[in-house]
Amino acid sequence: VIFPDGAQSVPEQVALTLDGVSFSYPNQTQPALRGVTLDIEAGEHLALLGRTGCGKSTLLQLLTRAWDVSSGAIKLNGERIETLSEATLRAAISVVPQRVHLFSATLRENLLLASPAASDEALRAVLKRVGLEKLLEENGLNAWLGEGGRQLSGGELRRLAIARALLHDAPLLLLDEPTEGLDAETESQILDLLADVLKAKTVLMVTHRLRGLARFNRIIVMDNGEIIEQGNHAEL
Ligand code: ATP
Ligand code: MG
Repeated sequence: VIFPDGAQSVPEQVALTLDGVSFSYPNQTQPALRGVTLDIEAGEHLALLGRTGCGKSTLLQLLTRAWDVSSGAIKLNGERIETLSEATLRAAISVVPQRVHLFSATLRENLLLASPAASDEALRAVLKRVGLEKLLEENGLNAWLGEGGRQLSGGELRRLAIARALLHDAPLLLLDEPTEGLDAETESQILDLLADVLKAKTVLMVTHRLRGLARFNRIIVMDNGEIIEQGNHAEL
């Protein structure tokens, strides 16, 4: 049984397979990914490292089908992702993007994005969990953010993105440099938080930082669109 109630239901756990995945952006001659092969078990936590422009964000984008592979295959629990409905894929994957978008809207609206049905109580709980409860102080969930309202610091924006992903609560979490630009203390708070809530999930996290890598089951190093090294923290 791959998915409990047939191919289009939401899986509880996600294993991922990349089989010789190559990809070129439509207007580019050089491929952004070249023959990437990777097996990720359900519940495994992977860190994805590599210098700027090596293809890390591209890899995450292919998993959400922002683009389709040029050749090779990406499979989720053994099913090619092209065969899954958009709804299934969206329910299976939460994303903390490299560039977090803040809407000029209330705090509530900014959180409801990926999970419109969440109760106010659930929103307050998740804000507490990511350490953003102080945003509630003045106007609660009606606090106006963005243009004409409260701007968020880099760390607050990242926490907001993590809060959105936690509300979405999908079995596969993709994080693109969730601690970029944060000071060491905030970074370690966020990594602790993630370690706690993500235990049962499959996690793929892009990072430039070497700190905190011991928390991951496996570290993948990319260069120029290829995987050049992999192993655990002790091995590398
Ligand atoms: P960084 O660490 O700076 O975020 P990255 O490893 O995430 O880098 P990608 O964003 O995946 O790198 O980019 C891989 C390559 O694809 C780069 O050469 C980049 O210029 C190119 N690229 C990325 N997005 C596009 C796009 N939308 N159109 C064309 N080329 C792109
Ligand atoms: Mg990137």
